Amino acid sequence: MPVATKVWTPAAACTALLARFGPQGWWPVTPARGSAPAYRPGVWDELTEAQRLEVCVGALLTQNTAWTNASRAVSRLVEEGAMRLDRLASMPGPRLERLIRSSGYFRQKALKVKAFASHARGKRGGLRAWLSGPLSELREELLSLHGIGQETADSILLYAGGRAAFVVDAYTLRIGSRLGWYGPGSSYREAQAFLVSKLPSSARLYAECHALFVELAKQHCRKTPSCEGCPLRRGCRHGRGNEG
Ligand code: SF4
Repeated sequence: MPVATKVWTPAAACTALLARFGPQGWWPVTPARGSAPAYRPGVWDELTEAQRLEVCVGALLTQNTAWTNASRAVSRLVEEGAMRLDRLASMPGPRLERLIRSSGYFRQKALKVKAFASHARGKRGGLRAWLSGPLSELREELLSLHGIGQETADSILLYAGGRAAFVVDAYTLRIGSRLGWYGPGSSYREAQAFLVSKLPSSARLYAECHALFVELAKQHCRKTPSCEGCPLRRGCRHGRGNEG
Protein backbone atom coordinates (compact mmCIF):
# COMPACT_ATOMS: atom_id res chain seq x y z
CA MET A 1 0.00 0.00 0.00
CA PRO A 2 1.47 3.43 -0.90
CA VAL A 3 2.62 5.53 2.02
CA ALA A 4 0.47 8.65 2.51
CA THR A 5 2.68 11.64 1.80
CA LYS A 6 2.52 15.37 2.02
CA VAL A 7 4.53 18.05 0.35
CA TRP A 8 6.36 20.25 2.79
CA THR A 9 5.98 23.99 2.55
CA PRO A 10 8.74 25.95 4.28
CA ALA A 11 6.28 27.02 6.99
CA ALA A 12 5.05 23.47 7.62
CA ALA A 13 8.61 22.15 7.62
CA CYS A 14 9.71 24.76 10.17
CA THR A 15 6.72 23.90 12.37
CA ALA A 16 7.56 20.19 12.23
CA LEU A 17 11.22 20.87 12.98
CA LEU A 18 10.32 23.12 15.89
CA ALA A 19 8.10 20.38 17.29
CA ARG A 20 10.95 17.89 17.07
CA PHE A 21 14.00 19.96 18.01
CA GLY A 22 12.50 22.85 20.00
CA PRO A 23 13.60 26.49 19.87
CA GLN A 24 17.28 26.84 19.02
CA GLY A 25 18.07 30.20 20.62
CA TRP A 26 20.32 31.55 17.89
CA TRP A 27 22.58 33.56 17.75
CA PRO A 28 24.56 32.64 20.87
CA VAL A 29 25.78 35.70 22.80
CA THR A 30 27.58 36.14 26.11
CA PRO A 31 25.07 36.81 28.91
CA ALA A 32 25.52 39.81 31.23
CA ARG A 33 27.57 37.90 33.79
CA GLY A 34 28.76 35.13 31.49
CA SER A 35 32.12 34.39 29.97
CA ALA A 36 31.14 32.55 26.78
CA PRO A 37 28.44 32.80 24.12
CA ALA A 38 25.32 30.86 25.04
CA TYR A 39 22.22 29.92 23.06
CA ARG A 40 18.98 31.48 24.33
CA PRO A 41 16.09 29.20 23.34
CA GLY A 42 12.79 31.06 23.27
CA VAL A 43 14.34 34.33 24.48
CA TRP A 44 13.90 37.33 22.20
CA ASP A 45 14.85 40.25 24.39
CA GLU A 46 16.80 43.16 22.99
CA LEU A 47 20.51 42.60 22.59
CA THR A 48 22.96 44.96 24.23
CA GLU A 49 25.35 46.87 21.99
CA ALA A 50 28.16 44.53 23.07
CA GLN A 51 26.07 41.49 22.19
CA ARG A 52 25.24 42.94 18.77
CA LEU A 53 28.93 43.38 18.15
CA GLU A 54 29.56 39.81 19.28
CA VAL A 55 27.12 38.59 16.64
CA CYS A 56 28.79 40.66 13.91
CA VAL A 57 32.28 39.52 14.89
CA GLY A 58 31.09 35.94 15.37
CA ALA A 59 29.55 35.94 11.88
CA LEU A 60 32.94 36.87 10.45
CA LEU A 61 34.88 34.43 12.62
CA THR A 62 32.68 31.44 11.86
CA GLN A 63 33.34 31.69 8.12
CA ASN A 64 34.81 28.37 6.94
CA THR A 65 35.01 26.94 10.44
CA ALA A 66 32.79 25.31 13.04
CA TRP A 67 31.05 27.61 15.49
CA THR A 68 32.90 25.99 18.42
CA ASN A 69 36.20 27.36 17.05
CA ALA A 70 34.74 30.79 16.41
CA SER A 71 33.09 30.80 19.82
CA ARG A 72 36.44 30.34 21.57
CA ALA A 73 37.79 33.34 19.70
CA VAL A 74 34.74 35.41 20.65
CA SER A 75 35.30 34.44 24.30
CA ARG A 76 38.94 35.53 24.13
CA LEU A 77 37.93 38.91 22.79
CA VAL A 78 35.33 39.32 25.55
CA GLU A 79 37.77 38.19 28.27
CA GLU A 80 40.38 40.66 27.06
CA GLY A 81 37.88 43.51 27.02
CA ALA A 82 38.42 43.84 23.29
CA MET A 83 34.84 43.40 22.11
CA ARG A 84 34.35 47.09 21.37
CA LEU A 85 34.35 48.75 17.98
CA ASP A 86 37.03 51.28 18.87
CA ARG A 87 39.33 48.66 20.38
CA LEU A 88 38.95 46.23 17.51
CA ALA A 89 39.56 49.00 14.98
CA SER A 90 42.70 50.29 16.67
CA MET A 91 44.18 47.03 17.97
CA PRO A 92 47.50 46.06 16.38
CA GLY A 93 46.92 43.33 13.81
CA PRO A 94 49.26 40.73 15.38
CA ARG A 95 47.49 41.02 18.76
CA LEU A 96 44.08 40.58 17.18
CA GLU A 97 45.37 37.60 15.22
CA ARG A 98 46.54 35.97 18.46
CA LEU A 99 43.19 36.52 20.15
CA ILE A 100 41.17 35.01 17.30
CA ARG A 101 43.64 32.26 16.37
CA SER A 102 41.22 29.44 17.28
CA SER A 103 38.84 30.50 14.50
CA GLY A 104 41.33 29.59 11.76
CA TYR A 105 42.34 31.79 8.79
CA PHE A 106 43.10 34.25 11.57
CA ARG A 107 45.19 36.65 9.49
CA GLN A 108 42.47 37.16 6.92
CA LYS A 109 39.80 37.27 9.62
CA ALA A 110 41.69 39.90 11.62
CA LEU A 111 41.63 42.12 8.54
CA LYS A 112 37.91 41.51 8.11
CA VAL A 113 37.13 42.28 11.75
CA LYS A 114 39.19 45.45 11.65
CA ALA A 115 37.54 46.57 8.39
CA PHE A 116 34.10 46.01 9.89
CA ALA A 117 34.96 47.76 13.17
CA SER A 118 36.58 50.72 11.41
CA HIS A 119 33.49 51.17 9.26
CA ALA A 120 30.90 50.65 11.99
CA ARG A 121 32.51 52.83 14.66
CA GLY A 122 31.83 55.90 12.56
CA LYS A 123 28.08 55.30 12.69
CA ARG A 124 26.04 57.63 14.85
CA GLY A 125 23.96 55.82 17.45
CA GLY A 126 26.05 52.64 17.30
CA LEU A 127 25.16 49.30 15.78
CA ARG A 128 21.54 49.39 16.86
CA ALA A 129 20.82 52.62 14.99
CA TRP A 130 22.94 51.68 11.99
CA LEU A 131 21.36 48.26 11.56
CA SER A 132 17.89 49.81 11.73
CA GLY A 133 18.39 51.62 8.42
CA PRO A 134 16.76 50.80 5.07
CA LEU A 135 17.29 47.06 4.60
CA SER A 136 18.39 46.79 0.99
CA GLU A 137 20.80 49.73 1.27
CA LEU A 138 22.21 48.33 4.47
CA ARG A 139 22.74 44.95 2.86
CA GLU A 140 24.62 46.55 -0.03
CA GLU A 141 26.71 48.55 2.42
CA LEU A 142 27.66 45.38 4.33
CA LEU A 143 28.46 43.56 1.09
CA SER A 144 30.83 46.36 0.13
CA LEU A 145 32.99 45.71 3.22
CA HIS A 146 36.06 43.52 3.06
CA GLY A 147 35.27 39.85 3.66
CA ILE A 148 31.49 40.14 3.92
CA GLY A 149 29.51 37.93 1.54
CA GLN A 150 25.80 37.30 1.38
CA GLU A 151 25.58 34.78 4.21
CA THR A 152 27.61 36.96 6.58
CA ALA A 153 25.69 40.10 5.63
CA ASP A 154 22.34 38.43 6.23
CA SER A 155 23.56 36.86 9.49
CA ILE A 156 24.50 40.33 10.73
CA LEU A 157 21.20 41.81 9.59
CA LEU A 158 19.08 39.03 11.04
CA TYR A 159 20.81 38.14 14.26
CA ALA A 160 22.52 41.42 15.21
CA GLY A 161 20.00 43.79 13.69
CA GLY A 162 16.80 41.82 14.17
CA ARG A 163 15.95 42.43 10.51
CA ALA A 164 13.92 40.11 8.29
CA ALA A 165 16.82 38.82 6.17
CA PHE A 166 16.71 35.07 5.63
CA VAL A 167 20.14 33.49 5.96
CA VAL A 168 20.85 30.90 3.30
CA ASP A 169 23.75 28.56 3.94
CA ALA A 170 24.91 25.29 2.43
CA TYR A 171 22.49 23.41 4.71
CA THR A 172 19.53 25.50 3.57
CA LEU A 173 20.44 24.94 -0.06
CA ARG A 174 20.79 21.18 0.48
CA ILE A 175 17.56 20.72 2.44
CA GLY A 176 15.51 22.94 0.13
CA SER A 177 16.69 21.15 -2.98
CA ARG A 178 15.95 17.75 -1.45
CA LEU A 179 12.45 18.91 -0.51
CA GLY A 180 11.92 20.22 -4.05
CA TRP A 181 11.74 23.91 -3.11
CA TYR A 182 14.43 24.86 -5.62
CA GLY A 183 16.92 23.08 -7.83
CA PRO A 184 20.20 21.67 -6.53
CA GLY A 185 22.17 24.33 -8.44
CA SER A 186 20.14 27.26 -7.16
CA SER A 187 21.91 30.42 -6.15
CA TYR A 188 21.81 32.08 -2.75
CA ARG A 189 19.43 34.73 -4.03
CA GLU A 190 17.11 32.22 -5.72
CA ALA A 191 16.80 30.15 -2.55
CA GLN A 192 16.33 33.23 -0.41
CA ALA A 193 13.68 34.64 -2.76
CA PHE A 194 11.76 31.36 -2.62
CA LEU A 195 11.85 31.14 1.16
CA VAL A 196 10.81 34.74 1.80
CA SER A 197 7.99 34.39 -0.73
CA LYS A 198 6.59 31.46 1.27
CA LEU A 199 7.11 32.65 4.84
CA PRO A 200 5.64 35.64 6.67
CA SER A 201 8.20 38.43 6.90
CA SER A 202 9.43 37.99 10.46
CA ALA A 203 12.95 38.14 11.84
CA ARG A 204 12.06 35.74 14.66
CA LEU A 205 10.61 33.23 12.24
CA TYR A 206 13.56 33.51 9.87
CA ALA A 207 16.01 33.12 12.74
CA GLU A 208 14.26 30.05 14.10
CA CYS A 209 13.79 28.42 10.70
CA HIS A 210 17.41 28.92 9.71
CA ALA A 211 18.64 27.50 13.01
CA LEU A 212 16.27 24.54 12.69
CA PHE A 213 17.53 23.78 9.18
CA VAL A 214 21.06 23.71 10.57
CA GLU A 215 19.97 21.29 13.29
CA LEU A 216 18.21 19.07 10.75
CA ALA A 217 21.33 19.07 8.58
CA LYS A 218 23.49 18.06 11.54
CA GLN A 219 21.19 15.30 12.77
CA HIS A 220 19.75 13.89 9.56
CA CYS A 221 20.13 15.80 6.31
CA ARG A 222 23.87 15.36 5.95
CA LYS A 223 25.71 15.10 2.64
CA THR A 224 24.75 11.45 2.77
CA PRO A 225 21.38 11.75 4.47
CA SER A 226 20.36 9.70 7.46
CA CYS A 227 16.62 9.75 6.80
CA GLU A 228 15.58 7.26 9.46
CA GLY A 229 13.77 9.32 12.09
CA CYS A 230 13.89 12.57 10.10
CA PRO A 231 10.79 14.62 10.97
CA LEU A 232 10.41 15.58 7.30
CA ARG A 233 10.70 12.09 5.88
CA ARG A 234 7.09 11.80 4.82
CA GLY A 235 6.83 14.20 1.93
CA CYS A 236 10.52 14.24 1.11
CA ARG A 237 11.11 12.61 -2.26
CA HIS A 238 14.75 12.17 -1.46
CA GLY A 239 13.89 10.52 1.85
CA ARG A 240 11.28 8.24 0.35
CA GLY A 241 13.90 7.02 -2.08
CA ASN A 242 15.92 5.91 0.90
CA GLU A 243 13.18 3.63 2.17
CA GLY A 244 14.47 1.00 -0.25
S1 SF4 B 1 14.06 12.68 4.64
FE1 SF4 B 1 16.27 12.56 4.34
S2 SF4 B 1 16.72 13.82 2.54
FE2 SF4 B 1 14.65 14.37 3.26
S3 SF4 B 1 14.96 16.11 4.62
FE3 SF4 B 1 15.01 14.27 5.90
S4 SF4 B 1 17.16 13.69 6.03
FE4 SF4 B 1 16.96 15.15 4.33
